[in-house]
Amino acid sequence: IAFYTCGPTVYAPAHLGHARTYVCLDIVRRVLEHQYAQHRGGSSNSTMPSSPVPPPPLFVMNVTDVDDKILATAAARDETDSLSSPLALARHYEAAFWSDLDRLNVLRPHVVTRVTEHVETAILPYIQRLVDNGTAYCATSGDVYFDVRAFEDRTNARTRYGKLAPPVSATDFYSRLDQTAETVKRDPRDFVLWKRRKEGEALFWTAPVWGEGRPGWHIECSAMIQAVQEQFQQTHRFVVHAGGVDLQFPHHTNEIAQAEAHVLPDLDNVTDTTLPVQEWIPHWIHTGHVHIDGLKMSKSLKNFVSIEELLQDDNPSSLSSPADDFRLWCLGMSGSYRGPATYSRDAVSQSSHVREKLVRFLLDGERWLSQAG
Ligand SMILES: [Zn+2]
Repeated sequence: IAFYTCGPTVYAPAHLGHARTYVCLDIVRRVLEHQYAQHRGGSSNSTMPSSPVPPPPLFVMNVTDVDDKILATAAARDETDSLSSPLALARHYEAAFWSDLDRLNVLRPHVVTRVTEHVETAILPYIQRLVDNGTAYCATSGDVYFDVRAFEDRTNARTRYGKLAPPVSATDFYSRLDQTAETVKRDPRDFVLWKRRKEGEALFWTAPVWGEGRPGWHIECSAMIQAVQEQFQQTHRFVVHAGGVDLQFPHHTNEIAQAEAHVLPDLDNVTDTTLPVQEWIPHWIHTGHVHIDGLKMSKSLKNFVSIEELLQDDNPSSLSSPADDFRLWCLGMSGSYRGPATYSRDAVSQSSHVREKLVRFLLDGERWLSQAG
């Protein structure tokens, strides 16, 4: 199996909302890898005719290293600042992200896909394919949009647009759409695949047909999953896709629509009317938000605690481990991984008491066993 996790947009330090997602998914990964090791151990000792041993699970994560926020954050810096280049800024915060995950004892993915490294090879051909089969169009603004109605016209109940989106009222649904581009879109639900370069934007590519620009956020994951899938065609298939619950709509909803549109035949291939009934990735894991003082922890609300702050140990002792306390909190003491969790220093220090009791018990057990010979 292959497992894809939506990774960070790297323009600022990661906070505990991100940390909970990646720690929860790391726990799932460790369970899967443990199950795999057990299974492999069992099959090699079996007296039954041996079946080929499947390869270990493959974990893939993307890094969004080009995006509105990255460009705006870099542009707001002084020109003499080394982080005033969008790519330098992205690399800086990506390095900080991996360092944070290492300190939280989160295993690194086997494959990291950076958007900037896939624009020409994977993302542009993917968008072109959607245009060719009639599920995307270039608007008068020069931006390329996904055509939700065209997709719906050529699809079926299993691949309908929005199937993953949580039930939301129509007003709520539309309030979360990109209203700024209403005039150029064919349908309010259409979303951007290729953003035409705006004046002064420092990071861009030249598309053969649509000119200078950069990919929209949603297309990157569908296209990079496709690229990795082709690379590992013989051994792996993506069966799990994960991320924070706020990605369910619109990001994952749009990823699914793009991927299920990508396999539709070209418009001029009128003889082929068979529509694919196969869904894209069958299993989705969404982790809940972290709340603090009654509000969702977020960069925009500026109410976040950084991972760096979490891992500062006020009272270091031989048993202290703020990373393990946080992991235990994520494992169960913050409630279900799917629901919201309320963070406070007290909540994590309760995890610390439980963990230290467990560690003492294990250390005592070891000592008694060694004394007993
Ligand atoms: Zn994604």
